[in-house]
Amino acid sequence: MKRASRYAAWTFERDPEARPEYSAECVAVEVKGCGEMIRSGGPEWIEEWMRRHTQTTGHTSYRRAVDDYVTLEPFVTRPEV
Ligand SMILES: [Zn+2]
Repeated sequence: MKRASRYAAWTFERDPEARPEYSAECVAVEVKGCGEMIRSGGPEWIEEWMRRHTQTTGHTSYRRAVDDYVTLEPFVTRPEV
């Protein structure tokens, strides 16, 4: 049975040219709108920043995110035998 090709077939590849971006934002509920955040190239920086922010403010809730970059490559199918 042949698949209907309504959607093109693509694979997702991590973009080797772009490094993932790490970020963290203080979302402490005890102070509305603290909103302090950091963006960095590495997870160690983020963790260190959260440690320091907690030590100086007492805030202990954060939103942490990793943005990575992908490219779509055509998915090449082998012909069925
Ligand atoms: Zn804070």
